Amino acid sequence: MLEVKDLVVAYGAEPALDGVSLSVPDGALTAVLGANGAGKTTLLRTISGLLRPRSGTAALDGRDLTRLPAEEIVRLGVAHVPQSGGVITELTVEENLRLGGLWRWRRGDLARRIAAVYELFPPLADRRARAAAALSGGERQMLALGRALVAEPRLLLVDEPSLGLAPRVVAQIMAVLRRLCDDTGLTVLLVEQNARSALSVADRALVLSLGSVAVAGEAAALAADDRLRHAYLGF
Ligand code: ATP
Repeated sequence: MLEVKDLVVAYGAEPALDGVSLSVPDGALTAVLGANGAGKTTLLRTISGLLRPRSGTAALDGRDLTRLPAEEIVRLGVAHVPQSGGVITELTVEENLRLGGLWRWRRGDLARRIAAVYELFPPLADRRARAAAALSGGERQMLALGRALVAEPRLLLVDEPSLGLAPRVVAQIMAVLRRLCDDTGLTVLLVEQNARSALSVADRALVLSLGSVAVAGEAAALAADDRLRHAYLGF
């Protein structure tokens, strides 16, 4: 269980997160929604140790991540897929996947984990020897997710995987995230501007607005609330 409490994060004088609290239950998909600049990316970067908060905590099973170096947070099983994926375009698909697990697995286990990722994302298997630069946007996002999954994380932080992708590809990616929760018990914290897609697969969701949690609840209830959808979600 990830428990975020009273997180305050600022780049300058103005806080980007101004006292954010949320719970991310194990084995569930939690969506963080909100407009441009609401603080969604800042929240993920703070949980994975790339930013230090002014105050507040982000505790994974009682251990405060905000005091640990990012590398230690990775070792605790937290994987962060940044916006646009961050795959290394000069390397092949397979080399990118190997990088995701080299620190964790010996050869045999690494090969098994990579095979599991190919099963999850068949287009990657067909393109394993190609440079990542030659992938489509959707395939690149699959590679970014796959690279994170090779390490077998327990908590997956995903930043706007739908960005710039066709609706059909977005639906595929959302379905994979849902399946990972259902089949492997992975805990997912999904940041999305595309509220409609995220709510279609999430268990719970919260809306960030100007650095604060404006609304939180069951995803289905949020999607069914016309007033809320119009006010915060744009659909
Ligand atoms: P987007 O969907 O556009 O990425 P977001 O909800 O992820 O938006 P953040 O990127 O977390 O929002 O930004 C929150 C606020 O912090 C914004 O006002 C933004 O301008 C500011 N901010 C973000 N990164 C920096 C930075 N490196 N330096 C200064 N201000 C920043």
